[in-house]
Amino acid sequence: MLITLNRERKSSFTALGSLRACIALFTLLSFHCFSAFAYLPTAPTALETKTVRSAKVIKGSFSKDKALDKTSPSTQMTNAAILLYHHVSTKTPSSTSVTPDTFKSHMEYIAINHTVLPLTDVVNALQQNEPLPENAVAITFDDGYANILENAHPILKKLGFSYTVFINPDEIGVAPQQLTWEEVKRMQGEGVIFANHTLDHLHMLNDEFTDENWLERVFENVEAAEKKIDSELGVSLKYLAYPFGEYNLALAAKLEENGYVGFGQHSGAVGETSNLLALPRFPAAGPYANLKTLKTKLNSLAMPVVHTTHAEPRVRSNTLSDTITLTVDEEDVSLNQVNCFYFGQNIKTLVDNDKVSFSIDNVLPVGRSRVNCTAPSKSMAGRFYWYSMPFFLADGDGRYPD
Ligand SMILES: [Zn+2]
Repeated sequence: MLITLNRERKSSFTALGSLRACIALFTLLSFHCFSAFAYLPTAPTALETKTVRSAKVIKGSFSKDKALDKTSPSTQMTNAAILLYHHVSTKTPSSTSVTPDTFKSHMEYIAINHTVLPLTDVVNALQQNEPLPENAVAITFDDGYANILENAHPILKKLGFSYTVFINPDEIGVAPQQLTWEEVKRMQGEGVIFANHTLDHLHMLNDEFTDENWLERVFENVEAAEKKIDSELGVSLKYLAYPFGEYNLALAAKLEENGYVGFGQHSGAVGETSNLLALPRFPAAGPYANLKTLKTKLNSLAMPVVHTTHAEPRVRSNTLSDTITLTVDEEDVSLNQVNCFYFGQNIKTLVDNDKVSFSIDNVLPVGRSRVNCTAPSKSMAGRFYWYSMPFFLADGDGRYPD
């Protein structure tokens, strides 16, 4: 295997290892750039309901306390990979599905090599800047499909893994293939976390510039979904997974004002410098279900980007004229080995001390696209820092495609 796992960590970083890993990463990222949809996180049990926001640790009732077993004082840091699934089924669209067998293989690999935490533990650690166990992983699903209960839940339950489902309350028990509230409540009773994916899975940025009440309208949708989840399940985590991962700075600011945490669908590990209004998650379905490439992502580190010159993900033109510069806390980041990709193409980067700059010459497509950058760790052989910058571009009518 080209990219070693953390548990096989060696103390030194070799140039050869780096080169081989970069080749592997290039292959991986080429694949990765062909967009995806996202999945989101969850909520706690009825008993835990009222303490959720202040609780530092919320474990599902079938969550084994593996975290402490694997925590090593020498390697403590705030880092985790959050996985995003939608369907677990052989009968649903392949781009957003994993088969039950593939899902099982992911979970069995994770059981041996990683520590699964409730999403709430990961968010609390990020908010409080507290260390997480080495190789921490959180598992999320978006959209509340019944096949999660049918095909994923038994595997997760058997392994004692906590997980989170982001649901659209107006569709629960109504839309085809959805869980019912009765099922949701039964799952919650077994420790599954449920959280907000808006009432009805709208494109939140649709009509942003033509509807003068745009921000109020979409935020009311978020609040109504949160209220419905609270009234049905007695839980209000205020975790929002943006449908399709689409957001802009105005919406993120509104969430922040109102105490929400936001989850996107761009890839990357989460860490101390992550934006709590747009936490990245690694899609793990469709073309991203390959366990070989997933291993690298599970093992990745959050690129400590402390500043970006391009903070607004919603773009208004299909060309980006400005050079984008990221400032990286580069103590452990081998920044001169950074690689950035856009639609599978390695794009030219300029590194100057703690800054990496690039520009995008391509015409941006309507909808979603992203730049992914990776750079090796200096101290952890085979591990890569990962950063993803999403772009959202509306069509001529101010709307976004599915
Ligand atoms: Zn969704």
